[in-house]
Amino acid sequence: MIPHNRPWITEEDRAAVDAVLRSGWIAQGREVELLEADFVRFYGRGGACAVSSGTAALFLALKALGIAAGAKVAIPTYACSALLNAIYMAGGVPKVVDVLPDTFCLSPDALTHQAPDAAYVIAVHTYGAPADIAALKQPKHKLIEDCCQSLGGENIEGLLGSGSDAAVFSFYATKIITGGQGGMVWANDRSVSETAKDYRQFDCRENYEPRFNLQMTDFQAAMIRSQMNRLQAIRERRKKIAKAYLEVLPQGLMTQSSVADAEHMPYRFVVLAPDLHSREAFRAHLTKKNIGCTIPLERYELLHRYLREDVNKFPNAEHIVDKSLSLPIHSALTDDEVEYIIAAIAKFKL
Ligand SMILES: *Cc1c(COP(=O)(O)O)cnc(C)c1O
Repeated sequence: MIPHNRPWITEEDRAAVDAVLRSGWIAQGREVELLEADFVRFYGRGGACAVSSGTAALFLALKALGIAAGAKVAIPTYACSALLNAIYMAGGVPKVVDVLPDTFCLSPDALTHQAPDAAYVIAVHTYGAPADIAALKQPKHKLIEDCCQSLGGENIEGLLGSGSDAAVFSFYATKIITGGQGGMVWANDRSVSETAKDYRQFDCRENYEPRFNLQMTDFQAAMIRSQMNRLQAIRERRKKIAKAYLEVLPQGLMTQSSVADAEHMPYRFVVLAPDLHSREAFRAHLTKKNIGCTIPLERYELLHRYLREDVNKFPNAEHIVDKSLSLPIHSALTDDEVEYIIAAIAKFKL
């Protein structure tokens, strides 16, 4: 079976982790500081705070941007439950909004109708597809970019994450680069990352306030730093695979619209079939050939369903879950595996 996902860990990654293990300092320390400095250099400005997960990064971004109890936070319904968890932990109230049918990202139009009074908006660059940040950026709310699936991707304004009040990242095992677990808050305004760091530094404080241990270890940071060094290679590899799949995609099958974009970091290769029946036929075809493909988000996971809202208000998200199938595109795929998958895609008849 070719797995849908597999971490890509090199000898350099192992050496970087081993050096920390031998150093005598394995908790948050110098490597975490260096990883934060790497992110500031990557964006060319701002401040960064490394944390234990992407969820912790979302929570801290909301806290650092001054969320008040009961504040409304707009989020796309087509997203993982981590968004809900972070909002509830920060004392906010989630307002779910439908997505666009082509990018699967937050619909600016639906935002106007479904959450006109949101104080915060979290825009996810879903599977690497850039959300419409230009339209979502408005003076009446603070904007957080969830870059957990889009590290290194760009839009016309530059690196994803750079155009809003804060950006968050995850280094979970299946993400673009990984430390097993881990997360990051980056913000143009350094006071945001400094507030996040203050919250993370829970121990040995002169003045007590409730804070929390959301720290990353130095060996995770070393592994993530080692992988940051080959971020461009990871992007080129993923783009090359996406292009090859696209070229042989049978008539009638589409993809998430951004897949062909040059500036894109393809995190998932999501095929859109015309209907549930043909999606299931494509899935059966690939599974028979031992290719690990998944439904990237199941219907029951849609956030409006978790919150028991009227499903008729989220037609695009309801539609996407029936038609989508995610194929392996991770950077640990061998050339032989990629060739095998290309041949299998090309053989499918709708
Ligand atoms: C993975 C992910 C998260 C949560 O990150 P964890 O590190 O698993 O806590 C949040 N948002 C998006 C879009 C993600 O893909």
